[in-house]
Amino acid sequence: MKNIIADIAKKIGIDVIGFTDVVDYSYLQELLVSRKNNGLNSEFEEQNIKKRLDARNILPGCKSIIAIAVPYAEGYKKSQAPNKGLLSVVSYKEDYHRNVKKLLESLAFEMKNFFSFEYAACVDTTPLVDREICKNAGIGHYGKNSLLINENFGSFINLGYLLTDLEIKCVNSQSVDICNDCTICIKSCPNSAILKGGTIDATRCISGLTQTKKYIPLDYRKNMKNQIYGCDVCQLVCPKNKKILEKKTNEDYKILELNLEELLKISNAEFEQKYSSMSGSWRGKNVWKRNALISIANLKLVSLFEDVENELDNTSDMIKTYAYWALMELDSKKASDILNKRYDYENDIIKCEILKLLEVYHDSGNM
Ligand code: SF4
Repeated sequence: MKNIIADIAKKIGIDVIGFTDVVDYSYLQELLVSRKNNGLNSEFEEQNIKKRLDARNILPGCKSIIAIAVPYAEGYKKSQAPNKGLLSVVSYKEDYHRNVKKLLESLAFEMKNFFSFEYAACVDTTPLVDREICKNAGIGHYGKNSLLINENFGSFINLGYLLTDLEIKCVNSQSVDICNDCTICIKSCPNSAILKGGTIDATRCISGLTQTKKYIPLDYRKNMKNQIYGCDVCQLVCPKNKKILEKKTNEDYKILELNLEELLKISNAEFEQKYSSMSGSWRGKNVWKRNALISIANLKLVSLFEDVENELDNTSDMIKTYAYWALMELDSKKASDILNKRYDYENDIIKCEILKLLEVYHDSGNM
């Protein structure tokens, strides 16, 4: 059965496929509870841990899982363009959720010629622990950055799987330490989010910060540099990705570089038309705009001071919060006059923010 499925996969262009019959993940309960209790989870993870522990919560008769990996980032070099905002390479081309789902649906469709079965196609949107499923299926092993590393394609792989009620004999893959003494990603992480033991503090991860709508602490903002979506650092430095990154390619990754002035002024319709097909845009225009303000501040683009000031009339408290901060970063003397003048006209949330900024910059001698 596995050979037939693997042959179909090859024909429809799936490079990596694996199988597991582990459907009960209750062995992860202790780890997931401890992560949650220690505040290490990302806000995007399912908070109800029970829902995460059994594939039969999604497909009641589930007996096996067919996992696939779709490689990306061939020949990618991180842009050095000055004054631009950057998107993660995972955002290149069509949203991988759609792309991987299409492949899974094609696989299931072709498999129906051989077997009668029920299935559910999953790409990053179920409560299940995708990486653990794919690890068990033999797609790869965990690196210290917690990503799965495939022996041929490294960690630049998008994952997906079919839950099925097929009885497939599987040899489940065991965990293997493939990093050995290497600690490059731990040392390179801009916000020290990679902890010992292959654990990630998702609340510090730059990729997560570019997607959150929660308040970003002042001292994390500088570490976000000019990222508009995602981060990639721990993958770009990983020796296991050297082969894929050094491959020759005709891809043009320039689309991942964004003009920050344009992004500040972009309308909803333009954003939808230009970026909605990208996976990185899923949190909407204002989150990108907030990240553009952070990037402008970090790149010290003083020429955009007035454009940032215009955002103080934005109706979103989130945008105003970061616009006030960005002004202080660009020119704290000029900005403090503006903050003082506008204080009386702001709501209580923004008033608090203004007071905090004036205090922080005053105490640090930057005013
Ligand atoms: Fe492992 Fe080194 Fe890659 Fe980190 S950079 S995932 S430690 S091999």
